[in-house]
Amino acid sequence: MQTLPRPTDSTPNQPAVDTKIHRRQTRPVQVGDVTIGGGHPVVVQSMINEDTMDIDGSVAGIRRLHEIGCEIVRVTVPSVGHAKAVGEIKQKLAQTYQPVPLVADVHHNGMKIALEVAKHVDKVRINPGLYVFEKPKSDRNEYTQAEFDEIGEKIRETLEPLVVSLREQGKAMRIGVNHGSLAERMLFTYGDTPEGMVESALEFIRICESLDFQNLVISLKASRVPVMLAAYRLMAQRMDELGMDYPLHLGVTEAGDGEYGRIKSTAGIGTLLAEGIGDTIRVSLTEAPEKEIPVCYSILQALGLRKTMVEYVACPSCGRTLFNLEDVLHEVREATNHLTGLDIAVMGCIVNGPGEMADADYGYVGKQPGYISLYRGREEVKKVPEDQGVEELINLIKADGRWIDP
Ligand code: SF4
Repeated sequence: MQTLPRPTDSTPNQPAVDTKIHRRQTRPVQVGDVTIGGGHPVVVQSMINEDTMDIDGSVAGIRRLHEIGCEIVRVTVPSVGHAKAVGEIKQKLAQTYQPVPLVADVHHNGMKIALEVAKHVDKVRINPGLYVFEKPKSDRNEYTQAEFDEIGEKIRETLEPLVVSLREQGKAMRIGVNHGSLAERMLFTYGDTPEGMVESALEFIRICESLDFQNLVISLKASRVPVMLAAYRLMAQRMDELGMDYPLHLGVTEAGDGEYGRIKSTAGIGTLLAEGIGDTIRVSLTEAPEKEIPVCYSILQALGLRKTMVEYVACPSCGRTLFNLEDVLHEVREATNHLTGLDIAVMGCIVNGPGEMADADYGYVGKQPGYISLYRGREEVKKVPEDQGVEELINLIKADGRWIDP
């Protein structure tokens, strides 16, 4: 049986191209038992859509998400009553399930709410555009430096108690800027731009730093992918210049639903991750939150940042294909999709198949009509009748000691 040369064997003098993603170095920020940044695997988050006052519904929603791999769950907290309810939710989770890292979303004039909820959650997310909300005046079209600074001072006073509380409890804060809700003074000063988003985050970071608090995660979400890309890139660049190393939480807001929602999220989140930017992600779909988790993992798996499932390599099929590729891929997947960590290729023919298996651990390749060949890496191990292909593939994996029962 033949063994194919590895591509690098034939090009010994060419320097190998680096295919690894080099992640931006960030400080570790602890959120319950999960660490964001500091070289830890990219963390997957989502948000329940139950009303936080519905304690049992929220506990069930959080549990559902956590059980399928969501590592940090966010709840919305529009009032002090909701903030108190989070305390009950946390207790009930611990009694009936297990502690789950929780984040509370605090919006308009949220100081009192944030202070209450900070007692119960592991991280508080504030939106700089709304935390101290200045009502837009219809006749205003600019801010003087004095007005700008006056509001800055009000923000500092309002933020300080929350920062002190989080600092003393060893908890974290997300400074979550949204393109759609920039503060008016930022809009007038920097425009509706990525610069305005970055300056908005930096203002809050500086206040936190002056209070000796650095358990920060930053996000700069937008519903338009090019805006979101520019904002995160600029933030990473500005932080590098300023010697800041805060982890980034990536997301495309209002991505919508279905195929386009997933593609839009992947275009934004995946592009940045490929550049090494991003420490935690949330895919925001207008669907049940459980639908977001597989998308997150697929993005991370495709980029080789996390391995949470079997990686299947399959050719698109063409006139040379020797069997029904779609059916066989489905069968192979059914039989092996619990073998997390393996790469398995299903290729239609031996002409191009073995060379294009991308160094899969095992290959199932059309050999001649009615027969397939099984590969271990680049080594052809045996030719078997097609109707025994899947069974023999399992036998091969078993013989290698890499099989586990589903
Ligand atoms: S591997 Fe063979 S069957 Fe599959 S697309 Fe390529 S040439 Fe066609």
